[in-house]
Amino acid sequence: MKNFNYHQSTKILFGRSRIHELADVVLQYGKKALLVTTPAANPALAEQYSRVKKILADKGIAVVHFDGVIPNPTVATISAGALMARKFEAEVVIGLGGGSSMDAAKAISVEATHPGTSWDYLFYKTPQPDPAKLLPVIAVSTTSGTGSQVTQVAVVTNPEVRDKSALYNNILYPQVCIIDPDLMLTVPKFVTATTGFDVLCHAFESTINPGTGAYVDLLAWEAISIVSANLPAVLSTLNDIDAREKMAWADTLAGLCIANAGVTLPHGMGMAVGGMYPHVAHGEALAILYPAFAEFTWEAAVPQFARLAKILNPHLIGYSDQDAARRSPGEIVRFLQLIGLNKKLKDVGMPGNEIEALAQQCMVLPDYKGNPRVATYEEMVELVRLSY
Ligand code: NAD
Repeated sequence: MKNFNYHQSTKILFGRSRIHELADVVLQYGKKALLVTTPAANPALAEQYSRVKKILADKGIAVVHFDGVIPNPTVATISAGALMARKFEAEVVIGLGGGSSMDAAKAISVEATHPGTSWDYLFYKTPQPDPAKLLPVIAVSTTSGTGSQVTQVAVVTNPEVRDKSALYNNILYPQVCIIDPDLMLTVPKFVTATTGFDVLCHAFESTINPGTGAYVDLLAWEAISIVSANLPAVLSTLNDIDAREKMAWADTLAGLCIANAGVTLPHGMGMAVGGMYPHVAHGEALAILYPAFAEFTWEAAVPQFARLAKILNPHLIGYSDQDAARRSPGEIVRFLQLIGLNKKLKDVGMPGNEIEALAQQCMVLPDYKGNPRVATYEEMVELVRLSY
């Protein structure tokens, strides 16, 4: 058996109505909390935020609400939240929302306690944040999802240089996370589809990453099976709580996978798309890139692509791995059609004259090097062209 490492320091509270335990969790760390969210863009989110604030207030916790997070949070977003945390002398940071809010909470914990901005603490820079200084982070996920509630990653976008990168350090795991599927009933259809597909991508890429191992493998295939069976069900009935709960579990499993094995080519490319075109949702970028990635990679990872194809289409179970893997790009496209995400880069407004520039950007993060087949620059241009 291949040697492997597995690390996870976030305490997980999973299940319906667990949000009511938030105040008791916060009180383990302090009585002054910065609540980090996106704006209350609709009545459902406004209701969710006031419910959470009441849960905290009822136990005597003072709360300042930073509701300025935008999807794909920027350096400026983090700075505004960090300023609020410092002025309020927050003792705890609560990230309530999807990956954007939870990542913002982690990055705010860094910037509020260190000189400079969050961009100064990206994974490849020194010095890294001092664990003794960080504010504790509680993550409450409301999408399924990015897995951010159980990862050591905080993704930040820098519009000035059209780059999206990450803080990545084991000291950034949230202290505690709450995964309450009741909070996910209001997620709109498009966000449900994009975040749900992100779960499948996390799980699948962790199975082909050289960092994979027996533990990750176990979690990843379970997550993929759950997404295949439940994402279309959630999309047809958005308030199907059983299917929402299963997606929340798959999201958590897949988060544990990326925290331990990492992602590969599509995520590196997806980050580049998000950096250059921040209006494109993270999961939407992945959906656009996956068919070309699968076509490019399947021959270098036949067992995994065959298993994926057989989960997405059980009629392939009797096929040889080679035959099933060859069909995997087509099965991915069929699944994307089913969840309404079968699109191209031109559909999301990417200018045709930026194909080479995007390909270059796709090679900035090291993720593509962990792919079973490593793309040359020319192949990367072709991957972008095929996705265009
Ligand atoms: P998001 O957090 O950007 O949320 C998308 C939209 O959904 C927002 O407008 C938000 O207000 C809304 N929303 C969220 N929950 C809702 C609810 N319950 N009801 C109604 N509306 C709701 O989306 P996301 O895909 O979860 O996060 C994307 C970000 O996470 C990107 O920046 C991505 O790069 C990052 N990411 C981080 C990790 C990690 O490990 N840290 C992993 C993958 C992606």
